[in-house]
Parts: sequence; structure tokens; C-alpha cells
Amino acid sequence: MFTGLGAALNVLIVGASIGGLTVAEVLRRRGFDGAITLVGEERHPPYDRPPLSKQVLTGSWPAERTRLLGSDALDGLGVEWVLGRRAVHLDRGGRVVALDDGRRLPYDRLVIATGLTPRLLPGQPVLDGLRTLRTIDDALALRGELKDAARVAVVGAGVLGCEVAAGARTLGLEVTLVDPAPAPMARHLGARLGALVARTHRGHGVDVRVSSEVHAFTGTAGRVDGLELTGGEKIRADLVIVTIGAIPATGWLIGSGLDLSDGVTCDAYGQAAPGVYAVGDVARFPTGRVESRTNATEQAVAVAGNILGDERPFSSIPYFWTDQYDVKLQIHGRIGHDDRIRWIEGEPGAGRWVALAENGDEVTAAIGWKHARGVRLAREQISALSR
Ligand SMILES: Cc1cc2nc3c(=O)[nH]c(=O)nc-3n(C[C@H](O)[C@H](O)[C@H](O)COP(=O)(O)OP(=O)(O)OC[C@H]3O[C@@H](n4cnc5c(N)ncnc54)[C@H](O)[C@@H]3O)c2cc1C
Repeated sequence: MFTGLGAALNVLIVGASIGGLTVAEVLRRRGFDGAITLVGEERHPPYDRPPLSKQVLTGSWPAERTRLLGSDALDGLGVEWVLGRRAVHLDRGGRVVALDDGRRLPYDRLVIATGLTPRLLPGQPVLDGLRTLRTIDDALALRGELKDAARVAVVGAGVLGCEVAAGARTLGLEVTLVDPAPAPMARHLGARLGALVARTHRGHGVDVRVSSEVHAFTGTAGRVDGLELTGGEKIRADLVIVTIGAIPATGWLIGSGLDLSDGVTCDAYGQAAPGVYAVGDVARFPTGRVESRTNATEQAVAVAGNILGDERPFSSIPYFWTDQYDVKLQIHGRIGHDDRIRWIEGEPGAGRWVALAENGDEVTAAIGWKHARGVRLAREQISALSR
């Protein structure tokens, strides 16, 4: 039983998703019996986002299956839930967070876990059928529209755009995937591995338009009917999904005095200011900001521990996965743009393989293509693990 932080203290967590929920769970698991309040803008109890662009989009999972905890487990946490309400202001001097209904919630420790909001193209119009994907409501609306669509354009071939393209194609729709980079997922994978992703999508019949930029969206009677590329070419679509990345949800923290350059800047303990912590997609630790589910969980465990007095700096090898068609692509570490890719099991043309990203003598990342066991073993070769 933890005794260092008394029951008189109260912890306020803003953002009721995987990061915020995990902080609450770990605090309770470790015996913290003070007050915990969890504020979330969405009206739903905490749910998992990765299935939204996969099983929920294609309809193979009902929405309820994404719930992170059942009702009994949520009740058992002894947390005060404030769902469907948005934090609008942080007064650090007074240790109070203001909500959009005028309520003011005091705290002794604040955890910021507000994640990201989708980025839009400059001047992006508001049209029916022109969508983004971040929440379960977005996913269900998109799933509904996919049923009536024949042609879909996906703008942005990052991880999310590639998953949406794969999902729409699996449903039998005509799909065009557009991105200004020379290959899909180039930011995460570099051009060489990105080319393998392009080949996979083309093999499934997706029209992959790399090195292509959107000039404008077109529509009639308030509904999108396609887009125009900078070269003047027009692509018709009943539905356009913009997946060009997301930005940290820090608008409510403006004026708080926190450093908000690319997320909430924290130290290695996850602390942004005395008594204020950040976790997950919104948090920028000294090692950088990472957008992945595993990272959100690991940081939440570390920050809950530090709230309880662990004083342990967070360190981790970043990990993410993506599912596209029958391919599970897993990456441990970070692939640098000048890294060399060396296949250690299988080869690019093979059905499944494992590769290492290397820079000089350093192994920076382990990459697995339909090879979960192999990539788990290869991870041990990442140089940072042996320091
Ligand atoms: C469609 C999709 C698919 C993904 N697939 C993968 C995958 O395959 N693999 C992987 O590793 N990662 C994946 N991710 C990323 C992963 O889901 C995120 O890294 C993870 O959800 C981050 O958790 P978080 O708690 O930091 O933030 P989030 O999950 O973004 O939650 C933040 C919460 O805070 C709330 N909030 C924001 N502002 C306020 C405010 N002012 N007041 C109150 N509440 C607020 C938001 O409404 C939201 O509910 C995916 C993400 C998406 C959107």
C-alpha cells in the first residue's frame, strides 16, 4: 500500500483515453486512495483508438468492443468521471482547471492527457463527405458513409491514411491515395520501405498518387465530389478523408505559462511544471513526442509512479504497429532518414521478413513485416538497449 501521497491530495486528469485512464488505474493499483477526477471531452467512456481505422471502419467489430474497461471495472476505480466536458483554461497559480460549463476543478497534481486533433489543409472547406478520423464518432460516421460510397480519396499516406485506404479497398471501393511525399509512410519508414507499402496498396488495386499535392476540393450543393491536384488533374470521389497528421490538443493551455512548442514540454519525469505532468500523444519528453498507443501507456505508468514519488526518469524504445490488408508491420525504435536497411530474415519480395535499420555501427530500429516473433527478437539488437 502506498502511503507517501496522502488521501488529502487530489489528482485531476484531463483527457479520458488510454493515457489518462492508465494513470488512474496505476495510481489505484499502487494503493493511492486520494481523489481522482477524470475529465474527457468525449461523452463515451474510454475506448481504444487503433481499431477505429481497422476493425471498426470495416465493420468487423461493433463499437462496444473498443471499450478499454467494462462498466464494473470503471466503477471499481473509484474515479469521479466528468465526461462530455472540455477543459478550457488552466490557472497554474490557483491550481484550478476551468471547464466549458463554468465549473472550476481544483487539483494538487494535474495530468494533461489531451492527445491530438486532426490537422486540416490550409483553407480546407466544410463539405459533407469531407472527413477526418480521430474519434469513435468519426469512425462510425465514416463507416456509415462508406456503405453508400463507390469512390474514395484519401489525402495523406501516413500510417492512418494507409490504414483507411486499406479498409476502404477491403470493402470493395475504388480508392485513390494522395501524398506529396515520394512514398507512403515515408516519415516513419523512409523511401525504401515506403515503396514496399506503395507496392502492397497497388497490388490490392489502390491508385497510389505519391509526389502529388491537393490544390482544392470540389463539391456540389455542399457535398464533396472530388479533388483537384496541383497539376490540374481532377479525381472524383464520393467521400474524401483527410489524414495529414494531427496537432497536440493544447489550445486550452494557452496562457498557462507552460511551454507548448509541439505539445506540452516535460522533463524526463513527465513533469511540465511543479505539480503538472503530461503523458501520451500530447507530451513532449526530452526524447521527443511520440504518437503511439504503447508510448501513451508506458508514459502513463511512469508518470503515475512519479506522482507517487518514484523519481524515475522515463525511457523507452518507441514502438508502433499498423495493420493493412493481411500485413502487420511493426517497428521498434526510430528509422532515421539516412539509415541503411538490412534484411536479416526473408527479403523484401518475400511474404514475411525482418530487417534492421542501421546508421554506422548503430542499430536504430527493428522492422517486422508479418513477422511478430522475428521482430521481437530483432528488437534486442537495437543499440540503445545495450547502453
Ligand atoms: C484511428 C487511429 C488509429 C490508430 N492506430 C494506431 C496503431 O495501429 N498503433 C499505434 O501504436 N497507435 C495507433 N494510434 C495512435 C494511438 O491511438 C494514440 O497514440 C493514443 O490514443 C494516444 O493516447 P492519449 O491518451 O495520449 O490521447 P488520445 O487517445 O488522443 O486521447 C485524448 C483524449 O483527450 C480528450 N481531450 C482533448 N482535449 C480535451 C480538453 N480540452 N478537455 C477534455 N478532454 C480533452 C480527447 O477528446 C480524447 O478523448 C491510432 C490513432 C488513431 C486516431
